[in-house]
Amino acid sequence: MATFTLPRPLSHSSLTMYGECPQKYKFKYIEKIPEKSKHFFSFGNSVHRALEYFYNVKNPPPPSLERLLDYYKEHWLSPGYRDQAQEAEYFEDGKEILTKFYRKHIADFAVPFFVEYNFELKVEGVPVTGKVDRVDKLADGRLSILDYKTGKALALNRVQGDAQLTMYQMACEELLGAEVARLSFYHLPSLKEQVVERHSPDLVCGLRRRIVAAAESITSGVFAPKPDEKKCYWCDYKPICPIFKHQYSDGQRATLLPMAAATIPEGRQGDAASAASDLAVLIDSCGEFTRQAEELANQARDLRGKILDSLKQKGYVRAFGKNYEVTRVTIEKWKFSDKKKILDLIAKAGLYDKILAPTAAKVEQLMADAKLDPDLRAQLSELGVKTENFDLRVKPL
Ligand code: SF4
Repeated sequence: MATFTLPRPLSHSSLTMYGECPQKYKFKYIEKIPEKSKHFFSFGNSVHRALEYFYNVKNPPPPSLERLLDYYKEHWLSPGYRDQAQEAEYFEDGKEILTKFYRKHIADFAVPFFVEYNFELKVEGVPVTGKVDRVDKLADGRLSILDYKTGKALALNRVQGDAQLTMYQMACEELLGAEVARLSFYHLPSLKEQVVERHSPDLVCGLRRRIVAAAESITSGVFAPKPDEKKCYWCDYKPICPIFKHQYSDGQRATLLPMAAATIPEGRQGDAASAASDLAVLIDSCGEFTRQAEELANQARDLRGKILDSLKQKGYVRAFGKNYEVTRVTIEKWKFSDKKKILDLIAKAGLYDKILAPTAAKVEQLMADAKLDPDLRAQLSELGVKTENFDLRVKPL
């Protein structure tokens, strides 16, 4: 199985992506095929940048509302919107959010301990990175961690046990040397904050284990696709995904080529972007899909071997996953070295026409015939050596 080094430190989002679908992680972080721009990321980043500007002062007062909105406009990110009308609508939504936020918080404004705190640390040797929107120091010297959200309303108690906040708590405590007392998600469209006390040591240990396990799997080259109806529906890599690519024509798959062009060596990018039907690009894509198919076949073979070993150890013939079942089947093989004796026996029994050449497969076939004289079967058995191998039948539940 091919092995990989970690392409970059693990972040909350890359760790989540690997957990949700290792194949998607591979497309994005190992093969560096960019995802399409998404308007909701552009929107979230535009509002985050404005809030960073608002809080990033050495001493109060913060920028005025007018200056804040000017900054928002100057640093607005456009990629990913369907059309100008959608972009204009979102721009106005962001203005309204920032205006309401300013009015609510201008009175209690305090300079944060950190704004957009970038961290890098090692978890049992695995590099981990992230960015905390805001870290405040409480009166007792402990820390409060806050993450802004611009998407849908937060599910009730989303903040309880959320792995992103656990990661931030772990990083801040290790790198800033102070205990975290408070964790929160601030939902900007509703100006509602969900707050909890620090996450338990069990959650931190669980996250550490998850980070190490993911790093081990990534560096061992485990990138099996993990299909999920909802997630696959929104996945940009579907046309080149081993699970779904048969549903797409070459032309549809070629729509991904402008994304892949970013990974094609300089000097060839013009070719790739200008013509999706460019033969060289199609050949490279075909080669890449073939390589992936071979890699998947290798992974499947390794997994089959592991499952067979485990079934043998446990003495099981059949076992079940959530979506598939496996059955251990025995495959018998015969080897016959003295072909002359075999032929004599068969000729004597008047069956020469049935077999003609005493290959192992033909003799096996003859022996499997229920109508064969049992004495002849026994004599043939004595002339051969039988080996047994196991194979696995896999079928969906
Ligand atoms: S389409 Fe589904 S299985 Fe394939 S890479 Fe995307 S998320 Fe994974």
